[in-house]
Amino acid sequence: MNHELYPSWIELSKQAFEKNITFLRDYIGKDTVFSSVIKGNAYGHGIGHFVPMAEKCGVRHFSVFSSDEARQAARASTEEDTHIMIMGMINNKALGWAIERDISFFIFELDRLKNAVMEAERIGKPARIHLHLETGMNRLGLEKDKFEEAVRIIKENSRHLQVDGLCTHYAGAESVSNYVRIQEQIENFEEYCTWFEDQGVEAKHHHTACSASALNYPETIMDLVRFGISQYGFWPNRETYMNFVKKHPDISKEHKDPLERVMSWKSRVMSIKEVAAGEFVGYGNVYLTNRDEKIASIPIGYSQGFARNLTNVGIVLINGQRAPVTGLVNMNLLSVDITDISDVDKGDEVVIIGKQGEQEMTVSSFSNMRDNLNYEVLVQIPSRIPRSIV
Ligand SMILES: *Cc1c(COP(=O)(O)O)cnc(C)c1O
Repeated sequence: MNHELYPSWIELSKQAFEKNITFLRDYIGKDTVFSSVIKGNAYGHGIGHFVPMAEKCGVRHFSVFSSDEARQAARASTEEDTHIMIMGMINNKALGWAIERDISFFIFELDRLKNAVMEAERIGKPARIHLHLETGMNRLGLEKDKFEEAVRIIKENSRHLQVDGLCTHYAGAESVSNYVRIQEQIENFEEYCTWFEDQGVEAKHHHTACSASALNYPETIMDLVRFGISQYGFWPNRETYMNFVKKHPDISKEHKDPLERVMSWKSRVMSIKEVAAGEFVGYGNVYLTNRDEKIASIPIGYSQGFARNLTNVGIVLINGQRAPVTGLVNMNLLSVDITDISDVDKGDEVVIIGKQGEQEMTVSSFSNMRDNLNYEVLVQIPSRIPRSIV
């Protein structure tokens, strides 16, 4: 790929990803399936590039939100034995496609269960389902009063249904303020699993954990973990990191974060200008120079996910130093003050997220400025920005 033809580009580090999954796999143990959550265009990393990279690192299980993402993942996959699991949205019209392609999906309503049976019967191949049980999040999830009917349908249609999983999702395992609620969910899930087993419904997997619950509540790991944010090299939040380090003193002793960011987002200096003291830079009166300043224009703006609220507060890296955003973030452009950075030339590399020299712009520093979560910042990076594996 020729970077120079694009305003900005994204590099995915295979070596960083390998480091992350090695750490996460060691942590969950080799008998637990590592499912790579790639919803939101693989958290902004790009499904098309991320899936084959993860497959090269041995990942064979991917979790998506919707059937259109499952299609994208299936197209990107190069391995025969890769499995895709849909955790959320799938229209009844797409069930047949999923069944034919051996794609499993969550069931949280009897309507979907009945439609899955009909489609499986029509196609002549069992549907691979995960019963998503309501344990206390009160969002999606099959409620307790529907369990009996679900069991009846499953038993009557055992030729058409393969129960791949019993599962649930926690309502905020990254924060200790939800401790009691999570404990209740864990207890409910255990109780329900026992009940299903007593009814003769045996599931291949029991899975409940996302990154935060696996890291904060090891008992939620079970035999499959749905790792999203952490595989990309980010902790779900600072609290989870602190909690983990406290429980694993070897990590704090080494002062080494076991996770490494996979993504770098880069651009180049497009133009440089000398602006005298007392002049406004860019639209309106948002930024006033208080000395003679050197201003560089970078071809990145809010149309590429660099939010307008980083106006006058965002930072990028140039020549290994921090350059503050001056004035409004425009649709396709932002200006930065490079007065204190020596030898900046047109065409020099600019790092929006990632390392340059000794400096690093983490998404969380970028996002703390924005008062946003890593998740939100990442998924807003548009899919049209070219990606490559480095
Ligand atoms: C997004 C998601 C995950 C992964 O969450 P992370 O916090 O990114 O690890 C797991 N399970 C479900 C149901 C999800 O929607």
